Amino acid sequence: MIARRDDAAIAYPFKNGIYLNITNRCPTACRFCIKRLLKWRFEQWNFRLAGAEPSVSQILAAICAVARRKRFSEIVFCGYGESTYRLPEILEISREIRALRPRARLRLNTVGLGNLIWDRNIVPELRSALDAVAVSINTADPDQWVRIHAPLAHFRRKGFESAIEFVRHCVASGLDTTVTAVRLPGADVAAVRRLAASLGAKFRPRPAL
Ligand code: SF4
Repeated sequence: MIARRDDAAIAYPFKNGIYLNITNRCPTACRFCIKRLLKWRFEQWNFRLAGAEPSVSQILAAICAVARRKRFSEIVFCGYGESTYRLPEILEISREIRALRPRARLRLNTVGLGNLIWDRNIVPELRSALDAVAVSINTADPDQWVRIHAPLAHFRRKGFESAIEFVRHCVASGLDTTVTAVRLPGADVAAVRRLAASLGAKFRPRPAL
């Protein structure tokens, strides 16, 4: 019930959706990341692409392989990596899915740094392709954001501010936008809830592993 590329899962069924693992690149090394805690695995699957990112046609084939066996209502760009590194592929895959399954909801799970990755506002492009975005913010405190997410140098100074701005743009664009926070020791989840409300976004707490 899973599409694999070599040993690694590209598309896998989860809840009512098909989740996609299209890159292992990350701008951060989040303290709570299950990639590290679970040694690249989740349930029976291995998500280590080992640098060999799947092509659009491989991803679409992987989606179809799962879809043949499972009913789904949502496609989620998620994976063990930051999917916005592959923005052109997100847009192309979404167009194909829209044509094949117009009623499927398309969602991106992200750490919110796509605008810094691409050095421009990518939200209009995402809005043209997706229905929803969930942004992992985890704290309302900029210094704690650095401690929790351990960003690469390029994302350290402007990361928090850019992620918040990304949420703002998503809300303004009309994307169904949810801010998420993992329940971590010392993190003020209630403050993230208030931050989400102030940005006009929904809020969802997530359990730590
Ligand atoms: S961005 Fe996602 S995959 Fe990357 S380190 Fe953070 S939680 Fe893990």
